[in-house]
Amino acid sequence: DSASLVEVLFHLGEIVTATQSANDETLLLLGEELNYNVEIISPEDEDRELLESFDLEFGEHEGDDKDLAPRPPVVTVMGHVDHGKTKLLDALRNANVVDKEAGGITQSIGAYQVATEVDGTERRITLIDTPGHEAFTAMRARGAQATDIVILVVAADDGVMPQTIEALNHAKAAGVPIVVAVNKVDKPGADPIKARGQLTEYGLQPEEYGGDTMFVDVSAKAGTGLNELLEAVVLTADASLDLRANPDQNAEGLVIEAHLDRGRGPVATILVHRGTLKVGDSIVAGPAFGRVRALLDEHGENIEEATPSRPALVLGLTAVPGAGDNFMVVADDRLARQIAEKREARERNALLAQRSGRRTLEDFMSSLEKGETDELLLILKGDGSGSVEALEDALAQIDVGEGVALRVIDRGVGAITETNVMLAAASNAVIIGFNVRPQGKATELADREGVEIRYYSIIYNAIEEIEASLKGLLKPEF
Ligand code: GDP
Repeated sequence: DSASLVEVLFHLGEIVTATQSANDETLLLLGEELNYNVEIISPEDEDRELLESFDLEFGEHEGDDKDLAPRPPVVTVMGHVDHGKTKLLDALRNANVVDKEAGGITQSIGAYQVATEVDGTERRITLIDTPGHEAFTAMRARGAQATDIVILVVAADDGVMPQTIEALNHAKAAGVPIVVAVNKVDKPGADPIKARGQLTEYGLQPEEYGGDTMFVDVSAKAGTGLNELLEAVVLTADASLDLRANPDQNAEGLVIEAHLDRGRGPVATILVHRGTLKVGDSIVAGPAFGRVRALLDEHGENIEEATPSRPALVLGLTAVPGAGDNFMVVADDRLARQIAEKREARERNALLAQRSGRRTLEDFMSSLEKGETDELLLILKGDGSGSVEALEDALAQIDVGEGVALRVIDRGVGAITETNVMLAAASNAVIIGFNVRPQGKATELADREGVEIRYYSIIYNAIEEIEASLKGLLKPEF
C-alpha cells in the first residue's frame, strides 16, 4: 500500500508523500529495490513505436548523397529583453524578405524567409518570428530541433545581461552555433567593443580576435549592418553545418504555431525539414490530420508547394496541432486519421493517468468489466428542488446489478460550486449537473482534481447514461 511505499522510498533517501507523483529516477530506484524491471518509455519512443506499427518512420532517412540538396538555415533570434530582437526581426523582414510583391504586406505566420547575396549567389535564410528562448526551449523540450543557428542580440549600450547568458546557454546546450548581433550601435552610449569583451568571458570569442564566433555591428533602428549579419549567418552555416535535405520524398517537419481561425478553421504554420509539401497531400500533425487544402506563404499568397526549410501556412487540418508537434505526409487520408486518432487516445490516457486515479464513469465501467464490484458515488446538483428530487427518485429506481451500489452522497439546488468539487475529489464521486452550470473556478478545480462533471437537461438521458455505466455498457465519450 501507499504507506509502505513511502517507507521504502524514505529508506532510499527519497522523501515523498502518498499522493505525490514520482519522477522517473524515483521509479527506477523503486523498481530496483523491489526487484521489478521498470522501463521508462519517453513520449518520443512511444510515438516512434506508434508510427512503426503503421510501417512509418519520422526522421532523417538514410538517403543517397546524390539525393540531398542544400537547404537554407533556420534561425532563431534570442537575447535580453529590450535589446532589439523584435525590431531586428522587423527590420530584416522589411529589408530582405523574398518574393515580395510591390506594396504587399507581410503577414506574421511565425516564420519568414529572407535572401541575401553572398559571393554573387542568392542565399536564403529562414527566420523564426517569435523572438526569445521560450519557444526555442519549449520545442527542444518536445524533442524538436527547430533551429540551425541562433542570432544572439546584445544591445551595445547595455552590454551582456542575465537573459543574454541564458540564451547563450540554451544555444550551447542545443549545440547550435551562434552569430552575435551587436545592436543599437547608433546610440550615443554604444560600446560594441565592450560587448565583445564581455561575451569573450562567456566563451564566445569574436572571429576578429582569433575566435570562431562572428560578431556583427547592427542598428535595427537605422537598418545598418543587416546584410552583413545575414552574410555572417550564411558563412557560419557553411563553415560548421551540413545543411542538406532530400526534397524528393514525402514531406516531414515541424509545426511552429497553430490556431483556430474563424473563417478558415485550424491553421498551422509548418516548417518543412525534408521532402516537399504539396497542396492535396494527406498529412498528420500531432493529433491533427487532414488534407492540405491550401498553402500560403508569408505574404498570404497561395503557393503550390513548400521545399525544405520553407515555412508555410497550412489550411485543411481537422484540428489544431501544438507548437513543436511533428507533421508528416502519409499515403492517404485514412492512414492520417488512424495515426491521429491513436495519438489522441494516447494523450487522453496520459491526461487521465495524471489525474491521480480519480473516478470517472468510464473508470467505473472498466472496473466492472474486470469483474470487480463497486460503488458509484454521485453528487447531484439541479436547477430546482423538484428536479433534484425527481432525479434522485429516478436513480433509486435503477436496477443495479449484483454487488454494485449507487449512492448519492450530496445533493443541492444551484450552480456547481468549488465546495461540491472538493467533496467529489475527496470521496471519488462523480458530479451530475441537471440544468445547472459550474460557478467561479469550479471547472478549473475539477480539471485539476480530475473530478468528472456530467451535465444533463433531460432526466431520462441522465438515468440512461448512469444505468448504462452501472451495467458496464457506457460508451466512452470522445
Ligand atoms: P526586444 O524586447 O528584444 O524584442 O526589444 P525591441 O525590439 O522591442 O526593442 C526595444 C527598444 O529598443 C524599442 O524601443 C526599440 O525601438 C529600441 N531599439 C531596438 N533596436 C534599436 C536600435 O538599433 N537602435 C536604437 N536606438 N533603438 C533600438
